[in-house]
Amino acid sequence: MGLLSGKTALITGASKGIGRAIAIRYAQEGANVAFTYLSSVEKGQALEDELSAFGIKAKGFRSDASDFKAAEELVNAVVAEFGNLDILINNAGITRDNLLMRMTEEAWDEVIGVNLKSCFNTVKAATRTMMKAKAGSIINITSVVGIKGNAGQANYAASKSGIIGFTKSVALELGSRNIRCNAVAPGFIETEMTAVLDEKTVQGWRDAIPMKRGGQPEEVANACVFLGSDMSSYISGQVIQVDGAMLT
Ligand code: NAP
Repeated sequence: MGLLSGKTALITGASKGIGRAIAIRYAQEGANVAFTYLSSVEKGQALEDELSAFGIKAKGFRSDASDFKAAEELVNAVVAEFGNLDILINNAGITRDNLLMRMTEEAWDEVIGVNLKSCFNTVKAATRTMMKAKAGSIINITSVVGIKGNAGQANYAASKSGIIGFTKSVALELGSRNIRCNAVAPGFIETEMTAVLDEKTVQGWRDAIPMKRGGQPEEVANACVFLGSDMSSYISGQVIQVDGAMLT
């Protein structure tokens, strides 16, 4: 018996990086996993087979997280296919970094749409099912940048701070329905998103972290296993940092 046996989870943006690691850890813990991707179609389809090998039900959906109507269709399709929805993980995210002086309106809108509006979209679509079941765990992936801010990432930081305010509000509104909502704030996690950066910059970041290394996607996924499982049944409205004491 895994920590998540019998539960159905929906994870957005699971074709790579942290989302992919969450999907695999969830399947290992016995959850049935629905997940989304957008541009990485082959990787998304390959993940479905990889997850099914754990003996659970898995299905990938190509769905744009920033699209309100698409989120409603997605949640309806997941509930029709899986019968229930116990855990929702909003992980899909992008960066469009630039100094404020050079940041375009498109770069602002795109990041707010994919990172922040996406959380509203799926939570709005999922609450009816969770309220009927009188149970649910919602996990939103924010960032230490949403707590501290970061030069060159005003759009990204704003989206991630917004997620924290949204998370706490959802926890307050839906607590009486036994629906929990928490945020996970990773620090520097080594994924494809960070692999494009130059090695010298990356080493500088590693050196500045008290634990002297970047985190692995699985380390973020483990926090999500805890928050999705009944092990965290009285934890709601929290932001859990997974950052090797980077922001302490
Ligand atoms: P990643 O490797 O670039 O993966 C991002 C995922 O999001 C991909 O699966 C991508 O799918 C999906 N995605 C992007 N836009 C989407 C959209 N419009 N609709 C649906 N899916 C979409 O990034 P990551 O490093 O794993 O980051 C995952 C989350 O953790 C993000 O929210 C990020 O902000 C957060 N985070 C990361 C770090 C870090 O150090 N890596 C630190 C703090 C927070 P496709 O490729 O199929 O489009």
